[in-house]
Amino acid sequence: MPTCVVCSKNVKDNKLITCDICKNPAHAICYGLSRQEMDCLRSKNRKIRYFCTDCNIMEVIGGLKNEVEELKEKFSSMHSMIQGSTASSTNGKTLSEDDIIKEVEDRLRRTNNIVVSNLPESEGPDNIDEDISKFLNLLPIKDEIKNEIIPEKCYRIGKVKSDDKQRLFLVKCRSPSAVLDVLRNYKPTKSIYI
Ligand SMILES: [Zn+2]
Ligand SMILES: [Zn+2]
Repeated sequence: MPTCVVCSKNVKDNKLITCDICKNPAHAICYGLSRQEMDCLRSKNRKIRYFCTDCNIMEVIGGLKNEVEELKEKFSSMHSMIQGSTASSTNGKTLSEDDIIKEVEDRLRRTNNIVVSNLPESEGPDNIDEDISKFLNLLPIKDEIKNEIIPEKCYRIGKVKSDDKQRLFLVKCRSPSAVLDVLRNYKPTKSIYI
């Protein structure tokens, strides 16, 4: 006959409850169970399990340990994320007011640019003046308007000139309104587009 782990007396089978974890036997009453609870746990098709107090505590502690481990992992990954973001912002990547003004100016400057594709290259060495007049010839407008449009600066994009391919031609206009004038007056041709 098994001995009760609580009172150390023998336990008759009809009063016996065993813990589902440590398998220790005890009187149901010594485990603090009511008659009804005992009947439940002793039924053949029981769906519930019984953990003695010690095992219950261990089970709870085990669960807590897992939760603590998970929290630790989450915390350390958050910590490294925060460190990463502060590191990148202190690595000279924080934008000063000057940087922002420069960036805005740069973007405004780019709005003055027109890129022309397939504008025929000049014969021989680069001849930007010839390119400019070819560009202006695309625009069927009066000379006085043309004078306003005459670009500030132009250049071919890319250094190497090849026979079978026209490089892009970049036109730097004097103002965004000049860009609009060009786009308004430009008559699309089959091969040259802006
Ligand atoms: Zn007992
Ligand atoms: Zn137990």
